[in-house]
Amino acid sequence: MTDKEVQQFVILDGKKTSREIEVEIAEETRKLVPVVGRPPHLAAILVGEDIASRTYVKSKFKACKRVGFKDTLVTFDASVSQETILGKVAVFNNDPGLDGYIVQLPLPDHISVEIVTDHIDPKKDVDGFTPANFGKMGLPDPSLLPATSRGIMELLARYDIDTRGKHCVVVGYSHIVGSPVSILLAGPGKATVTVCHIYTKDLAFHTRQADILVVAVGKPNLITCDMVKDGVVIVDVGINRIPDSSAKRGYVIKGDVDFENVADKCSHITPVPGGVGPMTIASLLLNTLDAYKRAHQF
Ligand code: NAP
Repeated sequence: MTDKEVQQFVILDGKKTSREIEVEIAEETRKLVPVVGRPPHLAAILVGEDIASRTYVKSKFKACKRVGFKDTLVTFDASVSQETILGKVAVFNNDPGLDGYIVQLPLPDHISVEIVTDHIDPKKDVDGFTPANFGKMGLPDPSLLPATSRGIMELLARYDIDTRGKHCVVVGYSHIVGSPVSILLAGPGKATVTVCHIYTKDLAFHTRQADILVVAVGKPNLITCDMVKDGVVIVDVGINRIPDSSAKRGYVIKGDVDFENVADKCSHITPVPGGVGPMTIASLLLNTLDAYKRAHQF
């Protein structure tokens, strides 16, 4: 696009939208604190030195401070035993002063994500990963939703993008993003959903059919200009660190979509960074507020 051409597509601005949600959360929190006697409280268990994980947790706690939540970080060396982590999970489950917590992924190989997740009290599972919350997602009365998927649905809703009857194509089927977002789009979203993964034959054939395309794979430039139709709405979930010696940190963050060449064909598109990432954090706050309200019978 040259400077003279007018940008036709709308940026689905997750940063701006998440800040609007934070204002709403902060307002509700201010009203509830005098009644409950304490603010909502979110904790995180962080294992090892993974720089990306530390950055994510830092961003989550900065957001907690902005909305008036209490936050607690518990860190362990990468050599920590699974038993010790399960012990901390049990302490968190039984702490009436704690509303929700996350176990930041990834965990070292000797610790089973499934076993740890299984031990989290679903009422405090603000990432929405426990089998109970994942299962309830498909029922009429869902509980705490997986945070990234809730964030995607919220972002679409706040930009008045109606998913009903639309053909949504989801690329990637992990239990973290692709699978839950497919369920939410097909269920409450009332969309017709196609799910693509590594075994999908002719990915481009499917992506070209999409009215709404959600990409959650972790491969930069997987989706190129020839793979989408005009007027598509694109939600790019991917976070890829691309080495770049000219960048201050030595890398740049890119999504899974070749934004530069694809955006002009879109009606709406999320940027990376500044799209789904901040919405995931906003959803974590919303889930924590929901857990706090349920624990105090609001
Ligand atoms: P994941 O567990 O690695 O899952 C990736 C999925 O993509 C799998 O279902 C995989 O299929 C599929 N896949 C791999 N190559 C493919 C291809 N060439 N064509 C079609 N499908 C393919 O990753 P994840 O946890 O879902 O995360 C995906 C991306 O989103 C990552 O970049 C992650 O950092 C990012 N993410 C962002 C946020 C956020 O808040 N913005 C939150 C979570 C994750 P198979 O299982 O069959 O191999």
